[in-house]
Amino acid sequence: MNKYTKITASIGPKCEDEQILTRMISAGVNVCRLNFSHDTGDVQGAKIDMIRSVSEKLGIPVAIMIDVQGPKHRIGNFKTEGKYKLTIGQRFVFDNDDTPGDETRVQLPDADVLSSLHVGERILLNDGKIEMRVDSVSPDRVETTVIRGDEIWSRRGFNLPDTEISTSVLTAKDRADLEYAITKKPDYVAISFVQRPEDIAEVRDFITARTSHPIKIIAKIERPNAVDRITDIASASDGIMIARGDLAVEVPFEAVPAISRHIIRECRKMNKPVIVATQMLGSMVNSEFPTRAEITDVANTAYLRADSTMTSEETTIGINPVNVIDTMYKILSHADMDAIANPYDWSRVENIPENDWSRSVASMAYLNRASAIVVFARDTSACIQISCRKPDIPIVAVCNESVVANQLCLARGVFPIYSPELFGMRDAFNSARRFNINMGKLVIVDEDKISLRTLD
Ligand code: PEP
Repeated sequence: MNKYTKITASIGPKCEDEQILTRMISAGVNVCRLNFSHDTGDVQGAKIDMIRSVSEKLGIPVAIMIDVQGPKHRIGNFKTEGKYKLTIGQRFVFDNDDTPGDETRVQLPDADVLSSLHVGERILLNDGKIEMRVDSVSPDRVETTVIRGDEIWSRRGFNLPDTEISTSVLTAKDRADLEYAITKKPDYVAISFVQRPEDIAEVRDFITARTSHPIKIIAKIERPNAVDRITDIASASDGIMIARGDLAVEVPFEAVPAISRHIIRECRKMNKPVIVATQMLGSMVNSEFPTRAEITDVANTAYLRADSTMTSEETTIGINPVNVIDTMYKILSHADMDAIANPYDWSRVENIPENDWSRSVASMAYLNRASAIVVFARDTSACIQISCRKPDIPIVAVCNESVVANQLCLARGVFPIYSPELFGMRDAFNSARRFNINMGKLVIVDEDKISLRTLD
């Protein structure tokens, strides 16, 4: 119980084996992320079954997060398989002609994207290595000037940081993936390239029309227009992922730390869990040791009291995914315990009204030096709200529904315990003891009743 910051691990080819998954979950994974940009359908379904089975065998609750690809846009094909070099100042045209392209033009297969562009907006290709500015637009043709040049080849992804794209947040592929994934009852669905709160409403309608399973929706923030609307998007969704990979292409990279801090703060106010994602231990794709900068990045995420870090390629294709989780656990637990030695000052929580009940819970715990907060968690809301006050003591969630226990795996400092027979105060005390909380005062939360009990 010395790690409060959760670990979301991306699951891929290097960790789909039952034995490796068992070691990763034992080592501290709280949320397993399955990226539908890669495998889909039954292949992902089999992984979901394996994760559920490992979690059950270990008796450790784990959340499953489906990450749908979203409208990741790509240019069309070029005449030759090789690369073309685009140079500063040259003209380049995007059109809707599917004739293979050359050094002067290429197709933009998605007509809605072509018609969304305006003069003066930027087009970034190939992870931002190429930058172009739009000079003129007509319904089936966009003329640009190259501002930053590099090599280009077929089917490269592109980003439009200045453009509000009118297409749905769910592509045909996403709809098919979600249709399938929903049948496997995931705990979370993460939505890529969210631009507006209406995108979340659209996904929620899609899900609720197909299942009564209470799937939660995570909005991935990777576009500048989503950053601008973070409060409304956080309010519409059940959590946020700061998707620093695409975000650092779409906004100046030097702005990413400030944006991350801002989003973490907003999520705290809005009672929404927040995940910090991408390249946290990226060098461990090929190395057994993290860089000093990565150690500091992971630790700073804990000091900022975000809910979760995330692994990407370092666990999906890295040389030693178990070591990645061990490493992340060590860094997080050290930072979390250090942060607890300098507890978060609940009384200065921004914009949380003095009469807010979760603030009362955190303040009762703080003033009485309680060793834990125990919550009878009929759903996730009370625990998440208390977690967002950052009380810096464990929040033991006594759950008699497995989906509640699984979903709470994402919330900072929440230690869910699940049994269909958990109900009474004795269960609360026994649950606290299971986490080695053996003495001192407990704040007990049971719906709207808040009490202080001594554990002897
Ligand atoms: C990201 O861009 O940081 C991210 C998490 O998204 P994906 O891995 O789906 O590209």
